[in-house]
Amino acid sequence: MGSYNTLVEMSAERLLAQYPELAVELVSGAQRASMGTERRVIRMLIELGYGDLVRQERRQYEGPTPSWFRAHESYERAFEKNFLHLLHILHIVASLGMPANIPLGKQRRLDELADFIATLQIESSPITAVYEGLAVPPERLWDLIHAIVLLGGFEVDVLAAEARSILEEQQRDASLDIELLLYDGSRAVALLRWDAVINLRELETRLIDMLADPSLWLAYGAATALEHVPNPSELVNDIETRLAGLNVRNRDLAARLVCILDHQPERVRMWISHPDCICRRAAAELQADLFTRNLVPASDVERSLLDPDAGVREIVLQGLRGATLSDSLTAHVRTVASDSGAAWMCIRCGFQNKGTSRSCTGCNVVNCDPQKVAHALLAQLH
Ligand SMILES: [Zn+2]
Repeated sequence: MGSYNTLVEMSAERLLAQYPELAVELVSGAQRASMGTERRVIRMLIELGYGDLVRQERRQYEGPTPSWFRAHESYERAFEKNFLHLLHILHIVASLGMPANIPLGKQRRLDELADFIATLQIESSPITAVYEGLAVPPERLWDLIHAIVLLGGFEVDVLAAEARSILEEQQRDASLDIELLLYDGSRAVALLRWDAVINLRELETRLIDMLADPSLWLAYGAATALEHVPNPSELVNDIETRLAGLNVRNRDLAARLVCILDHQPERVRMWISHPDCICRRAAAELQADLFTRNLVPASDVERSLLDPDAGVREIVLQGLRGATLSDSLTAHVRTVASDSGAAWMCIRCGFQNKGTSRSCTGCNVVNCDPQKVAHALLAQLH
């Protein structure tokens, strides 16, 4: 996703000067990028005088915003300024606790709130995933927000007070730059405070349920929160039994979480020949990592390079970047570089692509090209 984002942003400014008619394409292109990229592209278009066009085009791509939120008076303004998502979250956070009395000088700093928003990983997530997540019934969103408050060690009353203060100010002054206030200098907090959890099982169950959420942003938030559970081995079984019932994107996320919680050669042995290529891909990522630390033999990695799924091959190759490769392993990388036959399943839509298709026939969004990655790896050896 990172390179696609940078590409959109770089292309946008350069091309627009020469081809103003591209503005429409840019608005639609930005809807496929991350929230942060979308924000920067839209801002640039508005600054260059394309405000009307942006409003008109974005109506088509607008996320499924809940009706109760649409009724809110500041909705239109937030839509125009492209921070609907932030406003939505601020309203929820403002209702979280009894607002603390913040000393006047501290009020504009909003440190706690800015770090909290950063921890929600809104900026780096695909825009569609964020909008899907915000459109779910508020109680599902609250589950994630509560988990992040607790595990991140945030102070609920301070968060609520800061959210209220920013909302009040936005009511008074429509030109207030909410994004600048919240994104400038903020940092994501690691979700490590499992010691503060009173009912461990209840929180774990809620977060595991959330792994199945159709909003990948919510599911991703849950997976991040679960990475540091105090009892990983109990959870692994629980998640594993649910895998088969998940759709492809959530299954990929959950399978990778299993490999984070169970970061052992034994997990690779269990999954590297699994019938589901999603499990094999997760195992391949783990295998490459363990190989670079001499915890699995090169012969196992060689077998994965010849996996029938091109996705598995690509993931192994990516994991081998920077590693020292034996002659035998290098020969296997060469084989992958010259073999265009491996079929692959799309991680986004589940379409089973032919080996010759470089981008997904089903959704056009996802690429899989282990040959290209193999060539890059070989070039790095010389
Ligand atoms: Zn696809």
